[in-house]
Amino acid sequence: MRVAVVGAGASGLAALKCCLDEGLAATCFERSQDIGGLWRYTESIEEGRPSLYASVVSNTSKEMSAFSDFPYPEDFPVFLPHARLLEYLRRYAERFALRQHIQLGTTVVSVRKRPDFATSGQWDVVTEAGGTRTSHVFDAVMVCNGNFWDPSLPLHAFPGIEKFQGQYFHSRQYKHPDVFRGKRVLVVGMGNSGVDIAVEASRVATKVTLSTSRGAWVISRVFDHGYPWDMVFNTRFMSLLRNSLPGPLARGLISHRVNRWFKHENYGLQPEKSYPVREPVLNDDLPSYIITGRITIKPGVKEFKKNSVVFYNYPEEEPVDIVVFCTGYNATFPFLEEADVKVENKHASLYKYVFPTHLQRPTLAVLGLIKTLGAIMPVAEMQARWVTRVFKGLCQLPPRSAMEAEVMKRSKSEVWFGLFFDEVLKIDWIVYLDEIASFIGAKPSVLALLFSDPKLAFTIFFGPCTSYQFRLQGPGRWDGARQAIRTQWDRMLKPTRTRATSVSSSPWPSLLTVFGFLLLMAAVVFAFQ
Ligand code: FAD
Repeated sequence: MRVAVVGAGASGLAALKCCLDEGLAATCFERSQDIGGLWRYTESIEEGRPSLYASVVSNTSKEMSAFSDFPYPEDFPVFLPHARLLEYLRRYAERFALRQHIQLGTTVVSVRKRPDFATSGQWDVVTEAGGTRTSHVFDAVMVCNGNFWDPSLPLHAFPGIEKFQGQYFHSRQYKHPDVFRGKRVLVVGMGNSGVDIAVEASRVATKVTLSTSRGAWVISRVFDHGYPWDMVFNTRFMSLLRNSLPGPLARGLISHRVNRWFKHENYGLQPEKSYPVREPVLNDDLPSYIITGRITIKPGVKEFKKNSVVFYNYPEEEPVDIVVFCTGYNATFPFLEEADVKVENKHASLYKYVFPTHLQRPTLAVLGLIKTLGAIMPVAEMQARWVTRVFKGLCQLPPRSAMEAEVMKRSKSEVWFGLFFDEVLKIDWIVYLDEIASFIGAKPSVLALLFSDPKLAFTIFFGPCTSYQFRLQGPGRWDGARQAIRTQWDRMLKPTRTRATSVSSSPWPSLLTVFGFLLLMAAVVFAFQ
């Protein structure tokens, strides 16, 4: 079976590797001159590929961002500057001999159903390299072209922008803070990039204002006791808790938890109840930059004037020299027919965010499009493991009506790929990973492990849900998985515990461990009822 993979970013590399694991003949087409996608920083902006700013560091920790059979080297930092993440992807490509299957400098310009698609499921794929077009026939296509390259800049939503005499640009164009030196800067939008840019700008600018209509929870990479946020937040225990508590209680708990660092209301950041909460913002500096007056938070922009901006419900105009619009990106598939992957309101009609619901044959899959509160790499990899087995006919998709119902149910509560608050709690990272893993028989059974390997069961339930858990059983089982789980904290601690101390930890199990064990037993009993 011949499979085309579009793009050699993190998703495309995982897709290619999973194809090879399943014995599929895969070719990966990458429009730029190297692999790595978003994580390959370049000074110039390339068409069709995301463009990072120089200082980007991952928001997800290395253990939680690792592919399931390829842990990060222990000496890599816990959160990764773009160059280290790229290095990891390069090592992954070397380790699994992916390079020979990748055609660099080759853009996929068209993917069309063949006339006999209803029976063959095949696709006509046209690629372009060095001005020459080539036609291919593939049995299946995995779309991994990323969703951070087509900037969304709805200028009509900003009345008066045509009169504004200062400079403005989308965050995609931002590279270094020098551009802000001595200027009065307005950053519009409070996603991760918006906050990063505001923080950087405030080190050189005269004044920085961050405008947000809906606010956001801000959490630090450095979480409880200094552990990475995602290793604490994304555990099975926490996920169970989040999903079993009634909505208001769960909301209250989260609100209490995120306000422990600083009270969001006092910093003008409290999320508006009427807006969907897309995802929390990960930033270690914002509260201290607000409290030291380097960044001022303001409401949404009402209109621009010649040299200033007016905010909603705010009496004073703000003089501004430069505006950075951190207004996000569109998910775009220029090589597909619109009917194949419909994107409406930034919401794609894909079963489990992967398969178009209406194709006669399940031979087209989109990877890495879902936004969950966790790293995308393990998610894209899990999707790829499922997709390749669907391609091979080893896993079946439900009937079209069931797939459409799933999409409909989701789209009612989703906006902007994001999820309303309750949905964030429900469709969390672990729930999604578990669900896809269960389709291929790779979901770990904590219950079975409790009898065969209680220590591992305990680590899996209370510890971070690292992706190695999905290699303990099922297709693609990896012998190193258990050891990778056992050593996950060692790899996390190695780059920070660089000064040995003589203080040794107590040989007795902590109260928390005992309490945790009791809770696990209770969960098991509960599961049996
Ligand atoms: P990309 O990395 O965008 O790769 C897509 C590839 O497809 C590109 O190489 C592109 O050139 C190629 N391509 C596109 N069109 C074509 C075509 N027609 N033909 C051939 N090739 C094509 N995620 C995390 O998990 N953790 C993080 O900490 C994190 N931080 C982020 C920070 C920023 C600032 C941004 C913008 C995103 C971040 N993300 C993070 C999300 C990020 O998208 C993923 O980490 C990851 O890069 C997605 O990989 P991808 O392969 O899906 O897409």
